[in-house]
Amino acid sequence: MKKLIILGSTGSIGTQALEVCRRDGYTVVALAAGGNIELLEKQAREFKVKAVAVFNTQKAEELKIKLKDTDIKVLSGQDGVCEIAQMDADIVLNSIVGIAGLRPTLAAIESGHDIALANKETLVTGGDIVKKTAKEKGVKILPVDSEHSAIFQSLQGAPEKSLKKILLTASGGPFFGKTRKDLENVTVKEALAHPNWSMGAKITIDSATLMNKGLEVIEAVHLFDISADDIEVLVHRQSILHSAVELSDGAVIGQLGTPDMRLPIQYALTYPERSNYAFEKLSLSDIGTLTFQKPDTETFRCLPLCIKAINEGGLRPTAVNGANEEAVRLFLEGKIKFLQIAELVEKAAYSVNNIKDFGLEDVLECDKLSRAAVNSYI
Ligand code: NDP
Repeated sequence: MKKLIILGSTGSIGTQALEVCRRDGYTVVALAAGGNIELLEKQAREFKVKAVAVFNTQKAEELKIKLKDTDIKVLSGQDGVCEIAQMDADIVLNSIVGIAGLRPTLAAIESGHDIALANKETLVTGGDIVKKTAKEKGVKILPVDSEHSAIFQSLQGAPEKSLKKILLTASGGPFFGKTRKDLENVTVKEALAHPNWSMGAKITIDSATLMNKGLEVIEAVHLFDISADDIEVLVHRQSILHSAVELSDGAVIGQLGTPDMRLPIQYALTYPERSNYAFEKLSLSDIGTLTFQKPDTETFRCLPLCIKAINEGGLRPTAVNGANEEAVRLFLEGKIKFLQIAELVEKAAYSVNNIKDFGLEDVLECDKLSRAAVNSYI
């Protein structure tokens, strides 16, 4: 039975990953979270883990007291999260949200662990560094994001270099079909009402702005060594085709399923095997119609912004990501309007110097500067 570490275990992906573990009987060695110690304590006791880490140091102290009747070690801060990522295990699932997941991903790779990666911001900001380190250490990066898992699944058995194009599907989010005028005064509640997926707040807002699809284009460029020009984003309202690939002979192969993250999580953990149980089966006759259309890049500017950023390369995707994390936080706190997210991201991302040859410290500095730029404009 595989030994597993879950970073971000209290979130949407983390809790679904633990459901997979409960059913498939993985040994969960250690867990990490940001600050939700109530849930983390329950998880730690249920899975009898060896250690946990809490990013928030004060919360970590509180958790130490709560767990003092056990042998569970409690670590804290980002160093603690990285230490958890390096414990003995077969695979580390990283479902931390945001660039906070980058250092833990690198820590896990440094210690030779394969990574099941949900934290797309890891690749958006540190893609080149992560890939280089993974290659040096001979570790696998297994995608958890449903679209990237679909692409990965569709490529199984395809000859090397036969990938010509990726068809990256997008639900279109809660504001599909709306104009900029319609979006002027949308509320946080409306933006959080995703039609098909139940996810954490940040990615749900990213889905409403189509930033999520832009980040996924960048993620796909890194994972599948393809140019952004060879990735076609298709709005597919039903979220049944999770993405597809076009191969050199024109064959298009895709992966279909219900919108349920437990399948891509499970596949990343069982790869190259498949589990014997389905959480939910797809009935195409019940669904009837699948539709595909081009995204509205005039209204949803974050998508073309990301494509431009990855085509420019260097630190530009990091700057876009940092500015977006900050703008989304401000929107969720009610401090800016929905349409300001894209405006602030564009302005802030281009206020930061771009360099092509960079290391981890440059990425972290660029992230800091782009966040500060967003705050300086409001
Ligand atoms: P959530 O907000 O639901 O969960 C985020 C998790 O990260 C929580 O466990 C949170 O802990 C933890 N966390 C936050 N900051 C830190 C930190 N500094 N150190 C350690 N842990 C931290 O997010 P989701 O599960 O929705 O998304 C997680 C990632 O997966 C994102 O990158 C997202 O883009 C990606 N993803 C998510 C999908 C989904 O369906 N949800 C689909 C595809 C990709 P706490 O709760 O204690 O704050």
